[in-house]
Formats: sequence, structure tokens, C-alpha cells
Amino acid sequence: MNTLKELVLASHNAGKLRELQAMLGEHIRVRSISEFSDHAPEETGLSFIENALIKARHAAQVSGLPALADDSGLAVDALGGAPGIYSARYAGDGGDAANNAKLLEALRDTPDAERGAQFICALALVQHASDPVPLVCVGQWRGRILREVRGSNGFGYDPLFWLEQQQCASAELSPEQKNQLSHRARAMAQLKQQLGV
Ligand code: IMP
Repeated sequence: MNTLKELVLASHNAGKLRELQAMLGEHIRVRSISEFSDHAPEETGLSFIENALIKARHAAQVSGLPALADDSGLAVDALGGAPGIYSARYAGDGGDAANNAKLLEALRDTPDAERGAQFICALALVQHASDPVPLVCVGQWRGRILREVRGSNGFGYDPLFWLEQQQCASAELSPEQKNQLSHRARAMAQLKQQLGV
């Protein structure tokens, strides 16, 4: 598998492309799916893994290249894993602030000891659209949901994600620190190990 020289990333997000290119290293060229298609497939899976695979297969199909996709979100223990795959649109179209407000409200009566949660990132790599042996890696990052927002770095639920070891919220980490610790970093470390890069 370490003959991989080029792949297409199933994301239109330039920031994500830069981040994953930096994590993968210079030997693998990461191209954007925007070069090939502006259509996003419907994410009909019930898990991060299924949705990452749907996106990777679609990207391989439109590009004719090996394709990598990621799907990520927050799973809160006391909410049975919600918002999960619906993390981006937990509160509809309201964006990060509305999502965070909805989460705080959902956990209003939940005691500190029961506020455990994890960020999840599933990465799927397919060699071609119908690849029967995709590489799938899942990274998990445990934390606890705060009672109010802290910090201004990061995005999404970072201001509510308390890290016991670091004694700060994820939004208080520098981008470099977060890129060492995060669910995405952990999934990518596994993928690199499997690829031998
Ligand atoms: P995406 O699929 O990676 O764009 O992430 C889906 C949603 O999960 C985002 O819109 C965020 O709400 C949440 N999420 C994923 N990763 C993170 C993270 O590193 N910090 C905070 N929120 C995240």
C-alpha cells in the first residue's frame, strides 16, 4: 500500500485539505474533490464509518483516483451518542453557537460525573470506487462537556470540550497542540501506520 503517490480528498474545505496534507507528509499529493465535482453525495449512513465510505467512494468515482474521506462529530455519553453524525446541524442551520447552546440545554440537569463525551473521526481510503477492502481508521478523543463556553480557538464544539489531562477546553489549545491530540490526528496516525508512510 505504500505506493500511494496521489489521492483525492472528499472535502471542499481548503482548511481540511491543508491539515490532512500536512499530516500525511509530502510524499503523497492530496488533491481536492473541487477539481472534479461540486456535487456532494447524500450522507445516508447511520455511522461515521458508513458516511466516510460513501464520500470516499463518490470521490474515487468522479476523480478516477484513490480517495480519502473523513467524517467526524461529537458523541455525548448521556445523550446516547448524540449529536453524533448529526453534529454539524444539531440545531438546524444556526451554526456552531446554536449547536453549543442546544447541547448545554440538553445537559442542563446532567451532573458533572455524567458529562463524558468523545470526538470521533472516521477516515476511509479506497483505491477505486468499488474497492472491496477499504482502509478504515477511527480516532477517538475523550473529554467532558462544560457548563459554559471557554476559549476561542478551534471550531464547532471545541469551547465546550474539557480535557482532563490538559486542564483546559479544546478551544484553549493552540492549533499545533490540538493537531497532536485530536480525534483526526489519532485516526490519521493509524492510517499512516497502515500505509507505511
Ligand atoms: P466535519 O464532518 O469534520 O466537518 O465535522 C462535523 C461536525 O462535527 C462539525 O461541524 C463540528 O460541529 C463537529 N466537529 C468535528 N470535529 C470537531 C472538532 O475538532 N472540534 C469541534 N467540533 C468538531
